[in-house]
Amino acid sequence: MTSQVLLASRNAKKLGELRRILAPALPSVEVLGLDDVASYDEVPESGATFVDNARIKAQAGFAHTGLPTVADDSGLAVDALNGMPGVLSARWAGAHDDAANLQLVLAQLADVPDERLGAAFVCAVVYLDADGEIVTEGRMPGRLIRDPRGDGGFGYDPIFVADGHTETSAQLSAADKDAISHRGQALRALAAQLSRSR
Ligand code: IMP
Repeated sequence: MTSQVLLASRNAKKLGELRRILAPALPSVEVLGLDDVASYDEVPESGATFVDNARIKAQAGFAHTGLPTVADDSGLAVDALNGMPGVLSARWAGAHDDAANLQLVLAQLADVPDERLGAAFVCAVVYLDADGEIVTEGRMPGRLIRDPRGDGGFGYDPIFVADGHTETSAQLSAADKDAISHRGQALRALAAQLSRSR
């Protein structure tokens, strides 16, 4: 098993979650962030799918550093919006502004009845090293609420209630969110595959 991996994310809150989940899953591996390596230009996330975008970020990290690189791409898929904002989740309101994104989704759902507010958080993870890539995915199904609640997490967490829960994912503890989250599922699947194949 490799001794170092690079987590190729510039989203500070998401990076915190990635590191928090991956470090205990890979105890003998030093998890580096982009601040720990020579800086390189961000690549546009031009892919049509979460996997495509995670691959773009993993390939850039590996090409620039030579380090085994993990990248994720994630977002909110709303049933009544045909799976949008999807890969556009980070910039749904034009800029990467979590509060504006969340308010825009709520505005778009204003006329949708409560019973049709199903949604899911989705995450694709791509790990890339000299032996090739490993792709894993995770999905956390739930529903949206119209009044944001909670200060934890980031992004759309204040309006998302996971199936089987009453709190929003912004009200869950970090450990409780990681245990069920799309990102937790994808990263734990990656750690299991890495320990078998590398
Ligand atoms: P990415 O950095 O391109 O993968 O964009 C991810 C975006 O999806 C974030 O900026 C959030 O808007 C949304 N998102 C992904 N995962 C979560 C989550 O766990 N909670 C809330 N929002 C999330």
